[in-house]
Amino acid sequence: MSEIDLHCHTLHSDGSLSVAELIQRAVDNGVKILAITDHDSIAAHTELQRTPTQLSKADLSPVKVIPAVEISSGWRGKDIHIVGLNIDHQHPPLTQFLTRQRRLRSERATELVAKMEHRLKISDVASKIARIARGSIICRSHFAQLIVDEGKAVDFRRAFEKFLQKGKIASVQSFWPDMAEVVAIINCAGGLAVMAHPTRYKFNNSILHDLVEAFAASGGKALEVAYPGIKPQQQRRLTRLANSFSLAGSQGSDFHHPYQHWADLGKVPFFPADIHPVWKNF
Ligand code: AMP
Ligand code: MN
Ligand code: MN
Ligand code: MN
Repeated sequence: MSEIDLHCHTLHSDGSLSVAELIQRAVDNGVKILAITDHDSIAAHTELQRTPTQLSKADLSPVKVIPAVEISSGWRGKDIHIVGLNIDHQHPPLTQFLTRQRRLRSERATELVAKMEHRLKISDVASKIARIARGSIICRSHFAQLIVDEGKAVDFRRAFEKFLQKGKIASVQSFWPDMAEVVAIINCAGGLAVMAHPTRYKFNNSILHDLVEAFAASGGKALEVAYPGIKPQQQRRLTRLANSFSLAGSQGSDFHHPYQHWADLGKVPFFPADIHPVWKNF
C-alpha cells in the first residue's frame, strides 16, 4: 500500500462512493495524498469547498486532497485519458471546457441509448441509465452496468468486449478534443498534465513512443508508471520513455468500486526509483 494515490473516482463520474466515503476509505487505507480525478468533472472539489466535511478540513484531515480531473481526449482516433493534477478547479476556461465535455457526453449517451434499445433490445433504457448514473455525468461504464443488469454479460469487462468496444454493435465514434488541446487547458488552469494508464491503449512500442513524444511536445508533464495491472517490463519501458522526454512519473489506483479489490485506494505497484515523482512538484 502507498500513501500516495493520484487517480480515483467518486459517484460524480463512474465511481460508487460519495466524496466523504472515498476520503474515509483513503484514511482507512493509510493514504495521505489523494487526487480525486472524476471523468470530465470537478464536482467533487466544488462539493468539498462548499461543505467541507470533518475529514476534509485541511488542519484536521490526515488526507491532503489534491484538486484534479481526468479528461477524455483523442489522438490518432483513440481515446486517451489525461489527468490534470493540482488544477485551479474554478479556472473559467477549464470549467467552460468541462461543460463542453459533458455536452459531448450527453450527445454520446443519446446515441448509446438508441443502440441499447435497437441493437441489444433493452427497453426503457433512458430511465434505467438515469437510475444507474444518479445524476452524475454519463460514462460508458454506466451502460456496461446496464448490460450486466440485463443479463447480457457477466461483468464490466465482458460488457465492453462483447458490445461497447470499437467495432462492436454498441460502439460509438470518438469525438473528443485533441490531446494537445486538453494538455493546454490543464496547463492554463495551473495544473500538471499526466497521461493516464499509457499501456491500456494497447499501442505497439513505436506508436507508444510517438504518443509520448506528442504528449511531451504539447506540454505534458508526467506519465503514470505505477497502476494496477502494469507489468514490471512495461513499467521499465514507460520509465525509460518518460526519462527520454524529461517527463516525471505518477501513480494511482484508478479506484472506482470497493468490490474491485485489485484497484483499491493506495494499492499500487512500487514506484520506480529512477524517475522523478510528479507529486514533488505540488
Ligand atoms: P467513457 O469515458 O465514458 O468512455 O468510459 C470509460 C470508462 O469505462 C473507463 O474509465 C473505465 O472505467 C470503463 N472501461 C473502459 N473500458 C473498460 C473495460 N474493458 N473493462 C472495464 N471497464 C472499462
Ligand atoms: Mn472510469
Ligand atoms: Mn482512464
Ligand atoms: Mn480513471
